[in-house]
Amino acid sequence: MPPVSESCIFCRIAKGELPSIKIYEDDDILAFLDINPVSSGHTLVIPKGHYETLLDIPDALGAKMTPALARIGRAIMTATKADGFNCLQNNFAASGQIVFHSHWHVIPRFDGDGLKQWPHKTNVDAAALQAVAEAIRAAL
Ligand code: 5GP
Ligand code: ZN
Repeated sequence: MPPVSESCIFCRIAKGELPSIKIYEDDDILAFLDINPVSSGHTLVIPKGHYETLLDIPDALGAKMTPALARIGRAIMTATKADGFNCLQNNFAASGQIVFHSHWHVIPRFDGDGLKQWPHKTNVDAAALQAVAEAIRAAL
């Protein structure tokens, strides 16, 4: 049995204790509309089990996530006539995660919709790039 948290709203949605507008469901995965959408069709895709962040998701479950996200993303583009979509995931409070049951946002995007993404640093020196890459490789 996958883990469940009694106090988690997404676990309660997965169990049917709280309402949601469902988009897709299989044994392991549930997709439903975000209650406060960035754009019409904004969908949340969650594992039914309670895994707080990406770091907690078992590999076999993670392997099922990508095809489900692609299928939902394709359907969202068709249904909303979106020109693209963001598929993003927040991990830990510092990233903006507010519901600690891992989930992917699938957000329809339209040419010129004006939604801003993160600012990029444009003048990082090469040594700093090499240093952070080395630190990450060493931590793998
Ligand atoms: P996070 O910042 O954790 O990645 O995003 C959590 C998302 O869950 C937010 O976009 C928020 O609108 C959505 N959300 C929070 N509570 C509920 C709920 O009870 N039902 C639904 N459908 N979405 C929710
Ligand atoms: Zn949960």
